[in-house]
Amino acid sequence: MEAILKNSLARLRALRLPRVCVAVTGSDPADMVEKAEALVRDNTFIEFRLDYLPKPLLAISKIKEFLNYHPHVIAIGTCRRAANGGKFKGTAEAQLEILTKASAAGCQLVDMEMESAAKCKADKVQALRASGALILSHHDFHATKDLDKTLEKMVKIPADYYKIVSTATSLYDNVVMMKFLEQHSHQYSLIGLCMGEQGVPSRVLGVRAGSVFTFAAVSPDEKTAPGQVTAQELNSTFRIESVDAATRVYGVAGDPVAHSLSPAIMNVALRRENVNGVYVALHVKKMKDLLACIRDVPLHGLSVTMPYKQTIIEHLDNTDAHTQKIGACNTVVRAQDGKLYGFNTDAAGVVRPLEQRITIDSAKILVLGAGGAARAAVYGLKERGAEVFILNRTAEKGQKLARSAHAKSIKRADLKKYAFDVIINATPVGMGNTKDSPLNENEINARYVFDMVYDPLETKLMKMAKAKGAETIPGMEMFVHQAARQFEIWTGKPAPWDDMLRVVQVALQERANAAAKNAAPEPAVKKKSAKRA
Ligand code: NAP
Repeated sequence: MEAILKNSLARLRALRLPRVCVAVTGSDPADMVEKAEALVRDNTFIEFRLDYLPKPLLAISKIKEFLNYHPHVIAIGTCRRAANGGKFKGTAEAQLEILTKASAAGCQLVDMEMESAAKCKADKVQALRASGALILSHHDFHATKDLDKTLEKMVKIPADYYKIVSTATSLYDNVVMMKFLEQHSHQYSLIGLCMGEQGVPSRVLGVRAGSVFTFAAVSPDEKTAPGQVTAQELNSTFRIESVDAATRVYGVAGDPVAHSLSPAIMNVALRRENVNGVYVALHVKKMKDLLACIRDVPLHGLSVTMPYKQTIIEHLDNTDAHTQKIGACNTVVRAQDGKLYGFNTDAAGVVRPLEQRITIDSAKILVLGAGGAARAAVYGLKERGAEVFILNRTAEKGQKLARSAHAKSIKRADLKKYAFDVIINATPVGMGNTKDSPLNENEINARYVFDMVYDPLETKLMKMAKAKGAETIPGMEMFVHQAARQFEIWTGKPAPWDDMLRVVQVALQERANAAAKNAAPEPAVKKKSAKRA
């Protein structure tokens, strides 16, 4: 009876907890509380990581003061022992003493590892629950396995919440965690997620599967666990407070994928168009993991990026004729019956920005490259009646594409003989730097130069083209148009193009600013003072 009462009490509390708890660390108690102060305006759920402090007990009075001053804040006191992945070097009894004091200071919840709790007297551990709720936790820093067995062991110690944090070694581990949460969250108040870069989806989708809340970092530089996402990202980008069992899941699959801008623009589009959906980055190491995720999450729509655009095709139930011709698929739709349909929206990403500026029919267009993006451009433009020329580093590949698409292949040496309406760079040359260009200045003879490379915002090719009087089209426009088309295919709604473009512009500008800051030499004065110190 007591157990039932306790459990229902925990469930009531669970209902009132925000979805995101921000983990706060600090070099000393004042630093920790100062960081918490900076957070409280936007975050009302905070975890004090007392184990990060050299002397955790010294923080108790400051935490009490802080919580008295901010009665709306819900706080977790945590003092994880080094043996269980934390930084506290003391005994389990010393940890229990600190948590008891944190609870008395006003922390409504305290987190104690199952391993520590097992080392302490049971009545003392239960006494912790007199003034607050106990989160009994377990961390696996190597794998996601035996979750059911772990829970079975944990529930032998009565607690209000059971938290299991594992490490994702594959994309599919996210699904393992979600299935575990779905299966047991009706019986227990659970918190579950996977650490590691591959476990990022579980930090968003865990709450959809039944995790009472998830943990977030204050900033990218202050992560307390590998793969942790910032509170700002969880709240603003992923809108985690509104993710529920009915939320449709979309994603971008690639390797690497951590720097993809797709989650930023797609989540904005979903929000603007009131679609109950969330879009996550999926770091795919093996195709079979991706296919299992599409089936088991399930994913409603998928953006496919390097290196899977070609290899995904054989796993789809059907693709449109256009995608077949291009031989690359960047968009997958999962129908209600589970069947997978493939599309290629890169061609729309090339055609749409051009048709806003020129009449494509009969325009003379040079495409540099013969890879996946070039193929999408060539076929898309040929369908619109353009006269297409192809120049590729490996001449035979360019000639082959030209033959199959009824385009013309040309040699670099002959470039000077031609004037084009548009030159499109579909090679990666110029990506990530402002020094490289696929053409020399004297080879640019066109009204428009369209660079598919979108980072940096202005490439060397674009700079040279401007100097020669040509108008430029940044790769960012292609990126947004191909994404907008994906959004339309998945949702049947018009994409909020302006909002999507704005998000990408801001993100790329921030990246450019950060790169400039990192590249800037340290001021001489600062160096001197550092030496003195
Ligand atoms: P891909 O399939 O790997 O093809 C790359 C092409 O570039 C090949 O034809 C290759 O020539 C050529 N190439 C590579 N390095 C070169 C170099 N150093 N000098 C001259 N040519 C070189 O790649 P992709 O998927 O087509 O992507 C191409 C570019 O478009 C990438 O930068 C990608 O980021 C960009 N892209 C942008 C968007 C967007 O939304 N803005 C969308 C898709 C792609 P060989 O045949 O000789 O190897």
